[in-house]
Amino acid sequence: MRRKIEELRAKLNQYNYQYYVLNDPSVSDFEYDMLMRELQELEKEHPEFADPNSPTNRVGSDLTTEFENVAHRYPMLSLANTYSLEEVKDFCERVEKEVGPAEYVCELKFDGTAISLTYEHGRLLRAVTRGDGVTGDDVTANVRTIRSVPLVLRGDDYPDFFEIRGEIFMPHASFERLNAERESNGEQLFANPRNAAAGTLKLQNSRVVAERGLDCFLYFLVGENLPFDNHWDNVNKAREWGFKISDHMRLCRNIEDINDYISRADVLRHSLPYDTDGAVIKVNEYILQRQLGTTAKSPRWAVAYKFKAEQALTELLSVDYQVGRTGAITPVANLDPVQLAGTTVKRASLHNSEQIALLDVRIGDMVYVEKGGEIIPKITGVELSKRRPDSRPIAFIDRCPECGTPLVKYEGEARHYCPNQNHCPPQIVGRIVHFISRRAMDIDGLGEETVVLLYNEGLVKDVADLYDLRAADIAVLPRLGDKSAENIMNSIERSKQVPFHRVLYGIGIRFVGETTAKNLAAHFGNIDALMSATREELEQTEEIGGKIADSIISYFANDDNMHIVNRLREAGLQFEEAETQLESESLAGKNIVISGTFVRHSRDELKKLIELHGGKNLAAVSGNVDYLLAGDNMGPAKLKKAEKLGVEIISESQFEAMIAGKEDGGAKTDGSLGEGLQIMHDDIAGADNIPTNNGVIEKNLTATENMPVQGRLF
Ligand code: NAD
Repeated sequence: MRRKIEELRAKLNQYNYQYYVLNDPSVSDFEYDMLMRELQELEKEHPEFADPNSPTNRVGSDLTTEFENVAHRYPMLSLANTYSLEEVKDFCERVEKEVGPAEYVCELKFDGTAISLTYEHGRLLRAVTRGDGVTGDDVTANVRTIRSVPLVLRGDDYPDFFEIRGEIFMPHASFERLNAERESNGEQLFANPRNAAAGTLKLQNSRVVAERGLDCFLYFLVGENLPFDNHWDNVNKAREWGFKISDHMRLCRNIEDINDYISRADVLRHSLPYDTDGAVIKVNEYILQRQLGTTAKSPRWAVAYKFKAEQALTELLSVDYQVGRTGAITPVANLDPVQLAGTTVKRASLHNSEQIALLDVRIGDMVYVEKGGEIIPKITGVELSKRRPDSRPIAFIDRCPECGTPLVKYEGEARHYCPNQNHCPPQIVGRIVHFISRRAMDIDGLGEETVVLLYNEGLVKDVADLYDLRAADIAVLPRLGDKSAENIMNSIERSKQVPFHRVLYGIGIRFVGETTAKNLAAHFGNIDALMSATREELEQTEEIGGKIADSIISYFANDDNMHIVNRLREAGLQFEEAETQLESESLAGKNIVISGTFVRHSRDELKKLIELHGGKNLAAVSGNVDYLLAGDNMGPAKLKKAEKLGVEIISESQFEAMIAGKEDGGAKTDGSLGEGLQIMHDDIAGADNIPTNNGVIEKNLTATENMPVQGRLF
C-alpha cells in the first residue's frame, strides 16, 4: 500500500509541476481530481503513512526563480472541491452542525490564476501570486498593466492597508487572438485560457503582458480594518472602490438556493466571454468562517462545485491533415456531426501524431469529444466497447498531403513539418497572407482569396512578386476590376514605407513574432547587421534564446530566402530602422547600465532612449558608469558592484524625468514609484478612451453596466 501511495504522490507532484509551473498540463482536471481523491482516501485509511509534504496537504505551487518571493501576510489556500451536488449538501450540513444556521455567498469559479493585491493609502502596492500558499511571486509590474486592476482607488472609505484577492484570467477574445498570432508565428499554442493567463502573468516583459489583454475579477478581502464583518458586504463595498467584482453573485440561505444557483451558473457559463469551471460556495459571516477554520490546504468554510466538462459521443469518420504557413501538419478529425454545449461539432483537433498514438484513436471508433477550457473541441477518449473488430491504428502520413515532400520531425517538437517551405502551396499562400496582414505590411484590398487567385494564376509565388504586379494583371481577375486593382497597387506602394521591424515580422522567420521583430530591429538597426550576427550576438538581444537565434540563422542561410530579401530591398522596402535625430542632450556624456525588467519600456527601448538623449549604454558596471538604471529583479551582483563603486542607482521614473529635463521625477529613494508618478495604463497598453488617473474604474463600470440583463444570473 505504501508503494501505491507513494506512486500517487509522485504522479500528482509531477502533474502539479506541469500545471502550475510549465502551464502545460498533460492530463485533464477531472483525471487529476480523481487521482487526488484516491490518494486522500488511501491516506485516510492508512494514517501510518501520513506525510505533511503529501500533495493532499499542500497547495500546488506556481513559484519560479525569476521573480522576487514575497511572504503572504495570510496564507493563500486552495479550495476543497467536489463534482457532486450531494457533497455540496454534505458541506452545508457539516457547517450547520458545527456553527449553526449560516448564510452562504455563491459565486462563479473563474478559471484563471489566483492573485493577491495589497493596497496602501488607496494605491496598489504589490501583486503576488499564490505561489505555494505561504510565499508567492511578486508580479506587480505585470499586474499594473491589467486595465481592470485599479492603481488608485475611488472614494475615501477604504482601509488604509488591506489585501484583496481574485483571479487573473484571459477572456476568450484575447485568447483566440493570442493563439492565432502564435499559430501564424509558428509558436506552440496555449492549451486553454487558464494556461495562457498563468503563463502571461509570469512573463519578464510587462509590455507583452499589456498586449495580451488579461483581466481580473476580485472576490475576497483580507485585512484588519475591513468595513463589514461579512464577505458579501465587503465585496460589494470593494466594487465602489473601483474593483471589478462579478455581478453573478448571490446570497443564499439554504441548500435549495445553492442548487438553484449552481444549475443557473452551469447554463450561464456557455454565454460568458471568459471561462468558469464551477461555482464557489462560501460561508458569509467572518465569525463563522473563523470558527470553522482551515485545513493545511483549504478553508473549511468554503467549497468549490466543479462543472463537468461537457462530452458527446460520436463517430470518427476520417482524418484530414492541414498544412500551416510554417509547414506544421495538424491532423483534424472529421466527426459525425454532434450537438455539444450549444453548437454542432463536426471537426476536432487531434494535435499531432503523439496525441493520436496516446489516444489510440481509429477511423470508425466512437470517440468522446469535449469542449473544456479549449475553444476548439478535442477528442478525449475512445469508447472501446464499440470498437469494430477490424479497426486498425491510424498510420500518420509520412509525406506532405499538398506537395508530397517527406515530412520531418524536429527535436523536441511533437508536430511533423513539411520542410518544402518555398514550394509547398499552402505554405507559400500562408506566408503571403501573413506578409500582407494588418500588423505586418498592411496591404489593403488583398485578402486570402485574392492571394489564392494570384497564386493560382502564377502571378505571385512569393512575397517579392507582389512588388512586380501590374494593375492590368489584377484587373482581369474574377471579382476584381480596375478600381480594385488600383487600390491594391496603391496599397502595395504605400507598404514600401512600413518600418523595418514590421517588414522583419512580415517576412515570416519562424518564431519571430511582432515583439521579437521589434527587439531585433532596435538591437541591430538594419538587416545587414542582423544577417551577419552570430548566434551569441543574437542571444544578446532582449528575449532571444537559442531556438529563435537558430531559426534566424537558418532563415538567412537559405538561398531562396536571401533572393526574396534582396528583391524586396530592390523594390524599396525599409530594411533599416529610421534614422533618429537626437531629441535632447540631457544625457550627453553619461554612461548608463540597464539591469532588470521595467514596467513601461523594454530594455531595448531604454537603450534607444539613452542614445536619443545623447547618452551611452554600457553592458557592465565599472568606474566609468554614471548611472545604473535599475528595474525589477535586477541581478544582485550588479547592484553590489554599483554600490561599491558609488554608481548612482536610478529608477525608470527617475530616468524618464531626466530625459524629460526634470531633475527628479518624484521617485522615492528606494526606487519605488513616488506619489506623483502613478503608472498610467494608457502609457503601457496604448489604451485610448481611458482617463489618466483611475481610468480602469471608469472602464469597469461601463462594462458592467452595459451587460445585458438577461445575461446576469441575478
Ligand atoms: P482550484 O482551482 O480547484 O480552486 C481554488 C482556486 O479557485 C483559488 O485558488 C482561486 O484561484 C480560484 N477561484 C476562482 N474563482 C474563485 C472565487 N469566486 N472564490 C475563491 N476562489 C476562486 O484549486 P487550485 O489549488 O488552484 O488547483 C487545483 C485544481 O487544479 C485541481 O483540482 C485540478 O482540477 C487542477 N489541476 C489540474 C492539474 C492537471 O494536471 N490537469 C494539475 C494540478 C491541478
